[in-house]
Amino acid sequence: MASRNPVPHLPLGLRPAPRRWFGRWWKRQSPSYQDQLATLGPLISVLLFLAAIVTAFWYLRNEEFEREQESVKRDTEIAQQQIRLRLIENQEQLVRLARELATQALDSDEFRSEATAFVRERPEVVGLSWIGAERLVRMPRVSGNAPLDFARTVELPAPAASAVPSTLGTEADWAFGAARDLRQPVYSRPFQAPGGAWVFQVHVPVIDRTVFSGNLVVEYAAEALLRFHVPNDVVLRHAISLVDAQERVLASTVSRASAKDERGPPFVSEVVVSPVGNGLVLRGKGWRTSAGLIGSTLFWMVVAMSALTVWMLLGTWRHMGRRAQMQTALIAETNFRRAMENSMLTGMRAMDLDGRITYVNPAFCAMTGFAEQELIGKLPPYPHWPGDRIEENMRVLQQELQGRSPAGGIEVRIMRKDGSEFDARMYVSPLIDAKGQQTGWMTSMTNITEAKRVRDQLSASHERFTTVLEGLEAAVSVLSVQQGELLFANRSYRLWFGSDARGHGWLAGGAGSPALPVEVDEAVDSFGGLPAQALTRAGTDVREVHVAGLDKWFDVRARYLQWTDGRLAQMLIATDITERRRAEELTARQAERSQQTSRLMTMGEMASSVAHELNQPLTAITNYCNGMVSRVRNDSIQKDDLIAALEKTAKQAQRAGQVIHRIRAFVKRSGPQRQPAQAQQIVEDTVELASIELKRRHVAIQTYVARRLPEILVDPILIEQVLLNLLKNAAEAIDQGGMPTQRRRIELRVVPRHSPDEGGVIEFSVTDTGPGLPEDVLKRLYEAFFSTKTDGLGIGLSLCRSIVESHRGRIRAENLYNGTQVVGCRFAFTLPVDVEPAEAESPPGAGPEAAPLPLTKTS
Ligand code: ADP
Repeated sequence: MASRNPVPHLPLGLRPAPRRWFGRWWKRQSPSYQDQLATLGPLISVLLFLAAIVTAFWYLRNEEFEREQESVKRDTEIAQQQIRLRLIENQEQLVRLARELATQALDSDEFRSEATAFVRERPEVVGLSWIGAERLVRMPRVSGNAPLDFARTVELPAPAASAVPSTLGTEADWAFGAARDLRQPVYSRPFQAPGGAWVFQVHVPVIDRTVFSGNLVVEYAAEALLRFHVPNDVVLRHAISLVDAQERVLASTVSRASAKDERGPPFVSEVVVSPVGNGLVLRGKGWRTSAGLIGSTLFWMVVAMSALTVWMLLGTWRHMGRRAQMQTALIAETNFRRAMENSMLTGMRAMDLDGRITYVNPAFCAMTGFAEQELIGKLPPYPHWPGDRIEENMRVLQQELQGRSPAGGIEVRIMRKDGSEFDARMYVSPLIDAKGQQTGWMTSMTNITEAKRVRDQLSASHERFTTVLEGLEAAVSVLSVQQGELLFANRSYRLWFGSDARGHGWLAGGAGSPALPVEVDEAVDSFGGLPAQALTRAGTDVREVHVAGLDKWFDVRARYLQWTDGRLAQMLIATDITERRRAEELTARQAERSQQTSRLMTMGEMASSVAHELNQPLTAITNYCNGMVSRVRNDSIQKDDLIAALEKTAKQAQRAGQVIHRIRAFVKRSGPQRQPAQAQQIVEDTVELASIELKRRHVAIQTYVARRLPEILVDPILIEQVLLNLLKNAAEAIDQGGMPTQRRRIELRVVPRHSPDEGGVIEFSVTDTGPGLPEDVLKRLYEAFFSTKTDGLGIGLSLCRSIVESHRGRIRAENLYNGTQVVGCRFAFTLPVDVEPAEAESPPGAGPEAAPLPLTKTS
């Protein structure tokens, strides 16, 4: 007992550990892997089962083989034992006979009868004879009653009775000699009798005292020996055969024919046939019994069934794989639907055909405040029906159950668990199962309290918007483009223009409008034209419009837009700018005055030059007059000479008058008057005005005006003032810079130009060879009252710019370089022309057409 206890105790202690380990391992695996393993299990057990069956069959078969081998061996030994006993007994009989023969105890007849009795009792014996020492037959052969042909075939021929029986053959001869020499019984090797049957002989020497007197020769038939001395049960079980040293089968218990269809390797057992020796063996053979066949059939059936099972398991495995995939897809789909359903703000409620609630989604619970369990399984009246509306809800439900709910939904009132209520809209649709049968109704419910609130908010914001628009000082109007119908007009609009579309038309500058745009701008889209670009990109178009009926100026911003109903509409926002216009006009008048002042100042600055200029003709006139007076007094003047002198005097007076006239015209106060003018004329007048100053400062001027320039619509006096200013600045710069004579030059050029942003323009440029413009001066050039000169006022360029820009032109200044050295500067301004110039600019002196037109050249 003490020794038995620890044995079960040990496994009991160890067993749970692997189980726990396996459990943990199993839980760690993914479900799909678990599925695979679960299918793999049966597969492995089938394979193990198959292996066990194979092993069992192999073991049983081996066992059977061994048993068979054993049985063959035993049977062979039994047969050998029988044969041996028989042969030994026969041998003893023969020895006794031989002895009696030798001692003369038997006479010839007695021996014969003894021999006959011996042969008759022994069916295996073919014959018995006594061969004398000289190999003569002492007693002829006594044939046995064996059913063989031996008696005839082996019988010694009569003439041989007294001769050496050569017919005995070599084997018999050898046995005879051996028995004689050894003086004891000797068995011959088997040999084939003349009939073909196998026989062997035993020679027993007959020795009379010491005298050898022949041998008793007994011939055994191998066939008979087996037939009569192998027990019947052995014969039934196994094939026993006699085989000699040369592996020749001498006799067998089975016929050759049946021995041929033996299947598979037989179980063989060999035993030497002992008194015979000479390599004679008894061979027993066993075959596989039919039980083996049945066994192997069973075995192959088991194998086939196992293979089938494995095949089916593999099929199942693959099928499970597919199922797992489908399951994954299904789970994903279900999760997706559930997530969708849970994230939805719409409450969902399903009920069967009797009105029993079968499902509610989280949104429904959240909306009503009831838990899922409180709703599911409930029959009407439902807990979320307000107590005072049960009848109405019943009616709605009946409608629902009969499938007569309106497609647009029904508005109902829902009570929350806490008793508060809200408005909801319900939509109903039939619930269809997988077989296509209707199983109930699905109701979706949205809380429309929020929608109502949004609606209220919207209308409030609309109201605010309208209030703002109404309160605006500007007139806002929207007109549909196609129908010409006023879609919207605010209070200011109605105040100014009434509630019809005429005012919009005036503001837009359309037909019948008394308004004139302030600026002539072709790019302005007039009313009635549709926007050329896409609506979203339609820009705001700004213009100033005068409405004569109201005597008011408006800043009008027009914009095309898509009205709420999709129609194309034009919106105008008109701001009253009458006050601003007035202020602007005032400013313009003041600017004009300052221009005037500037002109006066220019003249003041130029006064000494003017005086100098006037002095010349006046002196000439005085000289002429004095000369004429003295010559008239002396009567030394001819009439013709007097006329010539008077004419010269008049010419000088005219010249002085011209100077004064031009100065007067320049200084004369007048408003800006645009008129078609020729650049050529402007240049000529300016150069004439400037020539006095230029002469005084010893500066030469070269002018170039391109031919066939188009007319420009400008105020020529103002442009002259600009040019005069530029020329004056240039001359001053050269003079102040103390330039040498070759650098005291100014070039005035007028050429047509065309640029993408300005279009066709005429460019006036004044290039000097002075010291140029320092960087800081360049930056502040057009600032009013900026001057680098001690006596400068610094308003010349600022005025120039405002004059040029009021003509929609541009002015710019740049330094001229020779390498890095400044060699002068260039002021240029442009004036727009409406007609494209007839020819492009040509370089000065490049051809006859480009020939410069020298107007004045002084030094
Ligand atoms: P003012 O001539 O009275 O100084 P302007 O407005 O005409 O006023 O000129 C402003 C300044 O620009 C001048 O003081 C001068 O320094 C500079 N300036 C104008 N023209 C030239 C020029 N051609 N070369 C160099 N400097 C110039």
